[in-house]
Amino acid sequence: MVQKVFERSWFQIMNTRSLFYFLDYLGKLVKQPLTVQVGLIEKTYLPAKQVVISPSFFKYLPCRKCGACCRKGVSLAFTASDKVAIEEFGNTKLLSGLKQYEINIGDSKKCWWLYEQSKPQTCDFLVSNLCSVHDVKAVNCLLPPILVGYCKKTQVVKLTKEKLHWRWVPNCQAQYTSFDLENFLNWDLYCLRRLQRSAEDLGIQTYLPEILEKLENWLQTCKDLSFFTGTPKDTILIV
Ligand code: SF4
Ligand code: SF4
Repeated sequence: MVQKVFERSWFQIMNTRSLFYFLDYLGKLVKQPLTVQVGLIEKTYLPAKQVVISPSFFKYLPCRKCGACCRKGVSLAFTASDKVAIEEFGNTKLLSGLKQYEINIGDSKKCWWLYEQSKPQTCDFLVSNLCSVHDVKAVNCLLPPILVGYCKKTQVVKLTKEKLHWRWVPNCQAQYTSFDLENFLNWDLYCLRRLQRSAEDLGIQTYLPEILEKLENWLQTCKDLSFFTGTPKDTILIV
């Protein structure tokens, strides 16, 4: 999906990897070819031939709160609405640590903000193994339970939770269990909406609105039938 990556430097990769962590999610879901550039790093994303939601997306992946993923020393990347939310949340350490950067999205310039950790192998906001800025945590902290997979051969993009452990921390203790509606409503949809909010901030057109609409329609059907225990058995076609 990522067509090319031009000049790189280790410094730039380290400073932008949190940003590209969620941009790569959005990039797989773009409707039109999109080139983004931050400093010397440039990536081009191409639309997929097909976008689907896999039945495996309707799994519950309860976090065991081991904190392993928060001890990677990963910086936190934010977009404009995140910054407004942080101002309202009122964590001065997070707010005062934000540094503003520019990103070129196609022909437009947009701002994004980075919080760099003060120590390696931990996060400044990890307190007693819990996130002290949970309500305003960065999109790159939210996404691990959800995987946007891409098959090069078929050029199909699939929302799934398969192979999570390959993608995220190797020793993540979260394990698949069967579908849990409350978790789905409170977490999966929340994560997708936050991702969509970041896409809107950056002016990136993706299939996320269509994905959210399909999921909300599916939930409404469950509600109408008073039937919450079943999960879709077939792939849901988005485009
Ligand atoms: S902001 Fe919260 S979720 Fe993100 S790495 Fe830090 S402690 Fe973990
Ligand atoms: S590594 Fe996995 S189980 Fe541990 S806190 Fe992160 S998501 Fe939860």
